[in-house]
Amino acid sequence: MSPRILLLGGTSEALRLARCLGPASIYSLAGLGRVPDDLPCRLRVGGFGGAEKLAEFIAAEGIELLLDLTHPYAAQISANAARAAALSGVACWALRRLGWQAGAGDDWREVGDWAELIAVLAPFQRPLFTLGREPLEHLHEIPPQQQWTVRCLQSQPAVPRAEIIGARGPFELDEERALFARLHTDVLISKNSGSQATEPKLQVARELGLPVLLLRRPSLPPVAREFASLDALWQVLQEAGILPE
Ligand code: NAP
Repeated sequence: MSPRILLLGGTSEALRLARCLGPASIYSLAGLGRVPDDLPCRLRVGGFGGAEKLAEFIAAEGIELLLDLTHPYAAQISANAARAAALSGVACWALRRLGWQAGAGDDWREVGDWAELIAVLAPFQRPLFTLGREPLEHLHEIPPQQQWTVRCLQSQPAVPRAEIIGARGPFELDEERALFARLHTDVLISKNSGSQATEPKLQVARELGLPVLLLRRPSLPPVAREFASLDALWQVLQEAGILPE
């Protein structure tokens, strides 16, 4: 019989896997994004209340395998997953998606935090932010020479010197080209998510010779098994009889 799985999600890979889990397994979401209503497994939404509470949940539900397929920048839940697995004696397997790598002609600069990002941005006029909602907290600090565009999941009304675009990937190359052209973007800001769905913007920056500022990845804890791709994890789950061939 397949082990009872707790799958921590919030990524496209996690959703793909959740669609193949049996009714005894549980798909868990923080609840910030879209919540599917057509899964064959159970669904729970919202935080657990920290690592200890997650460990209690694992014990109470008789979970036998914890799968961490959360986003590479969701460092808190990954830390909680590793700790809860240790506390409960259940194995944690994690998808640790590889980051994007700069190629010939790329001008990528890594920044450690918001303060460093703002300092590096000073010489630019038309930044395009594609790293989530954080810039929305700083709209009152836009330097007078800059016009910002913030693309994140939820749109909201424009404010002086900032346009906020609500959009969800995947993004096509041609639509990204059109966006950069309309905005006269002179610098792109992104997390290094490593996701194919959001990669075309990097191609456009390359074509236009634009710099890309990448927020440094958080460090994530080691767990029992780590996989660089969903395919690699999928294969092991199939070999273990957890997923059908
Ligand atoms: P985070 O800082 O690592 O987690 C904050 C808290 O949210 C966690 O401590 C946990 O609450 C709860 N949480 C997060 N993921 C959960 C899950 N799958 N199931 C149940 N509770 C969860 O995470 P975040 O960066 O805010 O991201 C939230 C979610 O969005 C994650 O699931 C992630 O996969 C997804 N996401 C994040 C990003 C990103 O850039 N950070 C991008 C795309 C998708 P408790 O401590 O109360 O358990």
